[in-house]
Amino acid sequence: MSDYDRDARRLWSRKVHGLTPYVPGEQPRDRVFIKLNTNENPYPPAPGVIEAIQTFPVERLKLYPDPTGLATRTALADYHGVALDQVFVGNGSDEVLAMAFQAFFNHHIDPATAKETEKIVFPDITYSFYPVYARLYDIPYRTVPLADDFTMPLASLQAPSAGIVLANPNAPTGIALALDDIRSLAAADRDRLILVDEAYVDFGGESAVALLPEFDNILVIQTLSKSRSLAGMRIGFAIGDPHLIHALERIRDSFNSYTLDSLAQTCAVAAFADGHWFETTRIRIMTTRERTTKALESLGFSVLPSAANFIFIRHDRYQAADLYTRLRDAGILVRHFKQPRIENSLRVSIGTDPDMDAFITALTEITADSQ
Ligand code: PMP
Repeated sequence: MSDYDRDARRLWSRKVHGLTPYVPGEQPRDRVFIKLNTNENPYPPAPGVIEAIQTFPVERLKLYPDPTGLATRTALADYHGVALDQVFVGNGSDEVLAMAFQAFFNHHIDPATAKETEKIVFPDITYSFYPVYARLYDIPYRTVPLADDFTMPLASLQAPSAGIVLANPNAPTGIALALDDIRSLAAADRDRLILVDEAYVDFGGESAVALLPEFDNILVIQTLSKSRSLAGMRIGFAIGDPHLIHALERIRDSFNSYTLDSLAQTCAVAAFADGHWFETTRIRIMTTRERTTKALESLGFSVLPSAANFIFIRHDRYQAADLYTRLRDAGILVRHFKQPRIENSLRVSIGTDPDMDAFITALTEITADSQ
């Protein structure tokens, strides 16, 4: 570290020194890649969304957006068959997740004894933002190892804890958990919140929104980034008991009243109004996923059963790090996590059919080359 850096960093808070921030997948600007690395939707947003953007009354931008996101929440409540006061919207589901960590998992110090009570839990292999939020908000956590086949370790999740965070389908494995399993986790301790991150649920999972009439200790978080092709608009939402939603509103209104801008709110409403596009594209992605899986299996890859818009693959004879580099050289970006247990796997987002054809052709050549 230079003298300058040392000097400048003396102004950092203790918290900033201690952080290990999340590293998002690469967004290359210098070269055109087939991008299969950040689980974006390969199809454009719905025609109705494009029209809403083109006809957006730009003069409205001089005004602040609706802080309550009423029109967006109404569209979401109608779509999911829940009441308006069960819906919270935010700037991408990452933000909603961060607010949920703050709202529900920060009461771990027993005021009487000043001792830490139970920690929150999540699997060892899951969305890598969870430990980042936990550390940011000083929330003690422990991880429970996924089984060898990467399924959820239900028995260890059942054990007492201060809260459970699950991605369903899980990332980066793509494996979905059945609703009955979430039901039994929620029923085991009704004083414990289960945060169910359903970023990928529209590609084959079952939504825990169906459990909300039974449980007020489940909060479901979804996004318009994946199945609605709106990653660049940053729209996420939570659905749960009105008391949970109220807690999220209290956090938001202590931080930034206007998390969702006016154009994003307009797009969200238009996305839900154009259900046909949503159905067509998500089914297309699932069909491409199954076709890609079969082609990879015939090249000798193991592919975990995915209910998401990505697959998690490995090959016994090839190192994932080498495959990653060779694919990159061929103009195809995938995601490689240098993390114990999964360092020899690659996560591959499902692109268009031509994208996946190019990917399969590249792997066919790579695997033929190194025989
Ligand atoms: N949850 C999971 C499991 C994800 O993979 C992602 C995407 N990185 C998100 C949440 C966040 O998505 P967004 O903030 O775009 O809504």
